[in-house]
Amino acid sequence: VRESGPAKKTPNAPKRRVALTHPDRIYWPDEGITKEGLADYYAEVWPKIAPFVVGRPLALLRCPGGINGQRFFQKHAWNGINKHIALVKDPKEKAEEAMIAINDLDGLMALVQSAALEIHPWGSTVADWERPDTITMDLDPGEGVAWDAVIAGAQEVRQRLADAGLATFVKTSGGKGLHVVAPLTPKADWPAVKAFTKGLADAMAADAPEAYVSTITKSKRKGRILIDYLRNQRGMTAVAAYSTRARPGATVSMPVAWEELDQVGPGYFTVENTPNRLAALARDPWEDLRAAARPLEVKAPKRQKG
Ligand code: ATP
Ligand code: MN
Ligand code: MN
Repeated sequence: VRESGPAKKTPNAPKRRVALTHPDRIYWPDEGITKEGLADYYAEVWPKIAPFVVGRPLALLRCPGGINGQRFFQKHAWNGINKHIALVKDPKEKAEEAMIAINDLDGLMALVQSAALEIHPWGSTVADWERPDTITMDLDPGEGVAWDAVIAGAQEVRQRLADAGLATFVKTSGGKGLHVVAPLTPKADWPAVKAFTKGLADAMAADAPEAYVSTITKSKRKGRILIDYLRNQRGMTAVAAYSTRARPGATVSMPVAWEELDQVGPGYFTVENTPNRLAALARDPWEDLRAAARPLEVKAPKRQKG
C-alpha cells in the first residue's frame, strides 16, 4: 500500500513491453483519454488490479473506435490475438474455441492494445474452474431509486452474507450501482453458490417487496433495486475492481470502505481521479479481502422419503 503523498505518475512504473499501435487513438472523447492514456492508467493500478484479473477466464468489452463506436462482448480468443494474452480451455466446453486469460502486466497491456475498455472476470480461477473464490452481488437500482437506498440495499446484502459466515467488501460499479463482494475459499461448486445467492436475493425481495426484486423483469424494477445474483453462475462475469467502463466520464469500478459509501456515487471514480485516490489512501479498503475468504458451507440437501 502506498503512503499518502503527492499525486504523481509512478516513477518506477514498469516499462511497457507490448507495442501499442495507434497510441493516440481516442477512447473517451469527452475526457480526451487515448489508448496510451489507458495503458498509463493500467500500469499505475497494476499492483491493485492484478489479483482480480490474473489467472481467471475473462470476458472483454472491446470498443476499437472508443466508447461511441462499435462494441462487442468477447468471451473467446480471436484470430491474431496478441501473444501476451493466454489461451485457456474451459474443461466443460466441448468446442475447441479457447477462452482468454492474462498472467502479467504484459497481458493487461495486450488487452489495452486490443481495445478492451472493460474487463469482466469469472468468479473462479483457471486453477479451479468449478469452485468459485468470489461471490459478487450486483445491486441494480431501477429508475428513481435514491443513492441512500442503494447503500441500504448493499448493507442488507452484507448482513445476510455475514449471517452465512462471509466477509464482505464493496465497490462502485462505475455505472449505476454497487457490487458487494464476498471472498470464498474455493469449496462449494457453481450450482451451490448460485443456489445460495438466489436464495439470498429471493429472501430480500420476499421480505421487502417494495424495495427489492430478484428477477430481471424490467417492468418490476421501477423504484426498486434488482438484487442481481446471476453474476454467480458458471460462465457469468462481473466487471473487475479497477476496470475502466466504456461509459461517459471514463468511470472505473472502485473498491471503497463501507463508511465511505455516502460520500461517493456509483460513477464517482474515474481514470482521471483514481491515481490521486490511491496516492491519498492511508489504507486499502480491500487489503484484507483474500485473507478474509471463508468456505461457503452448504447445507446438505434434504433427503427425499421413499
Ligand atoms: P451498473 O451499475 O450500471 O449495473 P454493472 O457492471 O453492474 O453496472 P450490469 O448491467 O448490471 O452492469 O451487468 C452486470 C454484468 O453482466 C457485467 O458486469 C458483465 O460482466 C455482464 N455483462 C455485461 N454485458 C454483457 C453481455 N453483452 N453479455 C454477457 N454478459 C454481460
Ligand atoms: Mn449492475
Ligand atoms: Mn446486473
